[in-house]
Amino acid sequence: MKITAIEPIVVSIPYRHDGPLTGFGGTVWSKLNYLLVKVSTDDGLIGWGEAFGYNAIPATVAALDKIVSPLAIGRDANDIVQLMEDLKRPLHIFGRNGPVIYALSGLDIALWDLAGKRAGMPVCQLLGAGSRRSVTAYTSLMRLHEADIIATACERALERGFQRVKLHEVTIPAVAAARQALGDDVELMLDVNCAWPADEALRMAHRLEPYALKWLEEPVWPPEDVAGLARLQREANIPLAAGENVGNAWAFQPLAESGALDYFQPSITKVGGITEFRAVAELARRHGRAVAPHSPYFGPGLLATLQMAAVYSHIGGIEIFGVQLEAGLFGDVGLPGPDGEVDIPQSPGLGCDPDPEIVARYRV
Ligand SMILES: [Mg+2]
Repeated sequence: MKITAIEPIVVSIPYRHDGPLTGFGGTVWSKLNYLLVKVSTDDGLIGWGEAFGYNAIPATVAALDKIVSPLAIGRDANDIVQLMEDLKRPLHIFGRNGPVIYALSGLDIALWDLAGKRAGMPVCQLLGAGSRRSVTAYTSLMRLHEADIIATACERALERGFQRVKLHEVTIPAVAAARQALGDDVELMLDVNCAWPADEALRMAHRLEPYALKWLEEPVWPPEDVAGLARLQREANIPLAAGENVGNAWAFQPLAESGALDYFQPSITKVGGITEFRAVAELARRHGRAVAPHSPYFGPGLLATLQMAAVYSHIGGIEIFGVQLEAGLFGDVGLPGPDGEVDIPQSPGLGCDPDPEIVARYRV
């Protein structure tokens, strides 16, 4: 089966959350923007992928249209691992992380969706899934800054059924407010998005120890400071997570060998799709570490991550972005139920196609 077309589709969907408008990457987000990748093959099937979006979308669309698609169209869609290797070789000169890899990630996810549809089974079954049919979600709150707003957001998270909450805050009072609101039995994670140089990260980690965090995520700036992370692992009594900004499984290798991480966090829309995610998950398993996927998105990337949770039992939980979209691309599929569990879709491919009416309504 040959790839006949690769179409980037941007959707921009209004959202609510339990705080004022906020965002990441230096801008405030009034809507959430996602980049879908629609791939057609000459047998008439269509696969859906997702490339990392938000502020990077214009660059990733250009990478897809101008760099990746010309090499991929006309190629056999069946041998995905070989095709991705063949694309990564010539494209490595344009970066082993960033928009070109995000574009490849979207293509890869769509090709796995196609492979599942062609085989008549969910991707997880193609890849030898175990018996898991659902996975526990944690809610990943946007940065809220103010202690009272954080406390309210945590209470609402409990009302929605979550027993695991992740903050994106950088102060001790913020974490204290969350722990107080959640009580001692709810799992609390803290993602500081590479806030601190290693020395400062160590001081902050010690100050965070009383709050019994399940993990501290990306504490160190710059993210390449593996030695700094490893020192934190040795000297602070707090589990560490990182990996959403690591571009491929080879780049995870030094982190794995350093012993710095308790949780590997590949992002399926950033790291090279399902093919590369599998390599990272296998690496984590060889080192006896858990995988906590980065997945603050609502498109096919989230469904692909759910498929990985069915394959890999060392994925302990799934990140669900702590916002409410005006409309979901898949209805309720891929969203947590009232008990905080997400059912893993069992239909062929990723398990659900985007609703064409929703895509048409929010397409930009
Ligand atoms: Mg993160």
